[in-house]
Formats: sequence, structure tokens, C-alpha cells
Amino acid sequence: MPLPKKKTSKSKRNMRRSHDHIPVPNVIYCECGAANLPHSICPECGKYRGREYAKTADA
Ligand SMILES: [Zn+2]
Repeated sequence: MPLPKKKTSKSKRNMRRSHDHIPVPNVIYCECGAANLPHSICPECGKYRGREYAKTADA
């Protein structure tokens, strides 16, 4: 079995794990005031950049 020659130092281990965190997603606000992710239709009113793409059941 191949084995690493040296124990990974705390520094190298932490450098490797620097990309492991989950990034905080961007939040944009629709004209209706609801928060949603960029490049996606609004979950509240179904609009994207002022146009309606998906109708919600209660709207
Ligand atoms: Zn909306």
C-alpha cells in the first residue's frame, strides 16, 4: 500500500480545507419584496426581471 511520506501539517491541512466551507448565497430582492436567488424566478410571484414566467396557485 502506498503511504504518504510525511504527516500533513496543520497548515497544509487547513489550506486544503479552506475551500470546504459552504458559501453564503447571494440574495436579490424581487419587486414584490421577496428574497430569492439570482438568475431564478421569484418563489412568491413567479416573476423574473419584471416578467411573469410561472404562475403560483394562489396568485
Ligand atoms: Zn416576487
